[in-house]
Order: sequence, then C-alpha cells, then structure tokens
Amino acid sequence: MPQVIINPSIRGFLSLTAHPDGCAHNVRRQIDLAKRRGPGKGLGNVLVIGSSTGYGLSTLVTTLFGYGAKALSVCFERPGAGNKAGSAGWYNLAEVHRLAKAQGRQVETLNGDAFSTAIKQQAMAALKERFGKIDQLIYSIASPRRTDPTTGTTYNSVLKPVDAAFASKSINLDSGQIKSVTINPASEAEIRSTIKVMGGEDWAYWIEALRNADLLAPGFRTVAYSYMGPRFTSGIYRTGTIGHAKEHLEATGRTLDEKLRDGQGGGAWVSINKALVTQASSAIPVVPLYISLLYRVMKERGSHEGTIEQVLRLYRSHLAPARTPMLDDRSRIRLDNRELDDEVQTEVMDLWEQMTSENFEEISDFAGFRREFRGLFGFDIEGIDYQKPTEVELPLV
Ligand code: NAD
Repeated sequence: MPQVIINPSIRGFLSLTAHPDGCAHNVRRQIDLAKRRGPGKGLGNVLVIGSSTGYGLSTLVTTLFGYGAKALSVCFERPGAGNKAGSAGWYNLAEVHRLAKAQGRQVETLNGDAFSTAIKQQAMAALKERFGKIDQLIYSIASPRRTDPTTGTTYNSVLKPVDAAFASKSINLDSGQIKSVTINPASEAEIRSTIKVMGGEDWAYWIEALRNADLLAPGFRTVAYSYMGPRFTSGIYRTGTIGHAKEHLEATGRTLDEKLRDGQGGGAWVSINKALVTQASSAIPVVPLYISLLYRVMKERGSHEGTIEQVLRLYRSHLAPARTPMLDDRSRIRLDNRELDDEVQTEVMDLWEQMTSENFEEISDFAGFRREFRGLFGFDIEGIDYQKPTEVELPLV
C-alpha cells in the first residue's frame, strides 16, 4: 500500500488534499465526547444521509457511539488512490468504521449520490438484508447540485440574494483581507434550482421510498438540518436563494410530520442549528466573516459549541428515546438559541461595525476560524507529523 507525504493544497473554501491521520484525530475526539456524554444505548437502526463531514458526521458519531445505534450511512466522497489523497469525508468515515468494528458496533456506508434512485434502492436492500426497519433518518446533505431522478434534469444551487442586490463586508479567505462585495439578485430560475437542490424534495423521496418498502419502524422519527442566522446576513442567507430552499425544507418537514405522527413518538422535524465552520458554510459569502466574530464572542462567554456538541444537545434534549422534541412556533427544533441570544448578537454587531482590514485579526477569532477550517481537512492538528509518509488508500472496513 502506498505511503505518501500529504501537503495542504487549499484555495479559498476548497481543499484538494486531506490528511488521513489528522481526520482520524478529529473523529476520535468526537467519538470520545459522544461516548462520555451519551448513555451508550437507546437507539435502534439509524440512517444518516450526508454522514461524512460537518453536522452529518457528528450525527453518525452521536447515534453510533453515544446511543448504541446500528447505522447505515450515505455520503459522496472520494477514496484515496495510488499516491493521491482521498477527501476528508472519506478519511473521517474510515476512522468511524475502524473504531466501530474494533468495538463490535454495526456501521455500513454507501458512497454515492443520495439524490439518485440507485442509492435509495441500495440503502433499502442493505436495510432489508442486514438491519431491518429504521427508527430514525437524519438528513444532512449540503450539495451544489442535484439531478432530479424523475426527469434527469440537473439543477445547480446558487448563493444569491432575492429581489435586491446585497452589499456587505466579506473576507478573502486566502489573504485574510476584508473587502466589500455586492451580489446581484438571483433570477427566478436560479431560485427554483436552489430549492430543487437544497429544499425538501429529496428528503421526502427518501421517506416515501422507505415507507413504501415497509421499512419504517413504529415511532419512526426524521430530522433535517436548517439555519436561520442574524439579521445582517439575512440578505444572503435567510431571505436569499438558500433561505428559500430552507423554507421549502421546513414546509416539507411539516407535511412529513402529518404523515408520520403515529401516537408512538413518530414525526418529522427540522432542527435549526448554529453557524459553524464546515465545508458547506465556508462557501457562503459573508458567513466566514460573521463566524469569525461570532466565535470570538461565544468562546469568550463560554457558550461556543462545535458540531458534536450541538448534535449531542439535539439528542439529549429532543431526540433521545422517550424525549419529545421541544418546538418553536413554526414546529422547529432550535439549537441556535445561544447564537441568536440578544447579548451575543449585540456584541457581534458592534464588532462588525468597528471592523477593518487592519483591526480584523485582533478583534475577531479569524485565527480560530482558519485553524478549524484547515482542521476539517486534517491539517494543523497538534501531534500529527506531517513530514511522515502516511497510508492514503484506507478502506471503509
Ligand atoms: P458539509 O459540507 O460538512 O456536509 C455535507 C454532507 O453531504 C457530506 O457528508 C457530503 O458527503 C454529503 N453529500 C453532498 N452531496 C451529496 C450527494 N449528492 N449524495 C450523498 N451525500 C452527499 O455540510 P454541513 O455544514 O454539515 O451541512 C449539513 C446540513 O446542515 C445542511 O443542510 C446545512 O444547511 C445544515 N446547517 C449547517 C450549518 C453550518 O453552519 N455549517 C448550520 C445550520 C445548518
């Protein structure tokens, strides 16, 4: 098996390489936390869609290691081949699989396009043969495009405002320079495309397919993730194209909930989570800048959480067996309460107004953002010897 020295190759919000040892280290930290904070039992069969990075990875870790679930996982990642490194998500799952196997836990991963009918059929075959009916499905996809399986048409999602141009400060992730950006509004077709990709249609297709195959256990629950954010990013997020898609996802959740309410705890919900450094959020204009300020404020107040802490709270407070989710007035679970706390937002807003290219590093936690962003790909992790060749062709055992 080839051993290779892997160097970072990061441009903006994209990384061409990932370090297996660094990714494994991150995953072990999450697993340790899930094992310490979770009861170790309580969940049956769980299907996590979008399981390899960000919120989905933390959901897989929480359910598998924190609540003793048997997990089927779906992701879209690139394995290492020859002397070419695979993607971070692949290496994250390689470590999840390795440790799960060592501890006698059941996890399987399907690597392919979750939007396709083929992957849904493979998932249903795996469930029928090796798992049985499922108790929970968590939907955590973030994707730039989707091919509609019923028509074969491919749609791209865009991150643009709707109705009026959006002007804001933003950051060049390579140089760390603050700049002004103006983003012109999306066309009707771009709004519709973004809803096709990031709205609720595919989530509903999954539930429908599993239901038709009689694979939903009594009391079956499903959750998809959404985001709200503060007023000053709303032009690019909540009232923008992606926000329209999230409205569609949330409306889908309410429709699914009506169908899944079975008097045994079953239902469908959307959970609104906190802004965090992930591959998906780093691609949204303005959001990395906002996160750099938010992290500073929340870390100073001791209220900062990462994806694993958020998902552990989701389970402890809302989704653990026998728990009934607590909902806002639009039937959504809210994990973003600490982010949207008035005092936190006032402090972030003050910093936002003072911020210039000159004082930015000093008044923000951009150093923390950058470290965490590089960490997503397994780089800049303490204790890893990056000069040492490492195995790139890791299997999902
Ligand atoms: P991420 O980029 O870290 O993860 C995306 C996941 O989707 C990966 O596992 C990837 O393999 C998978 N994926 C993408 N396309 C796929 C496809 N076609 N088939 C199968 N798998 C596919 O993103 P994230 O930030 O964790 O986002 C997950 C969800 O959480 C999204 O709905 C996002 O809007 C929501 N959310 C994110 C934040 C945040 O700040 N990051 C906050 C609140 C809610």
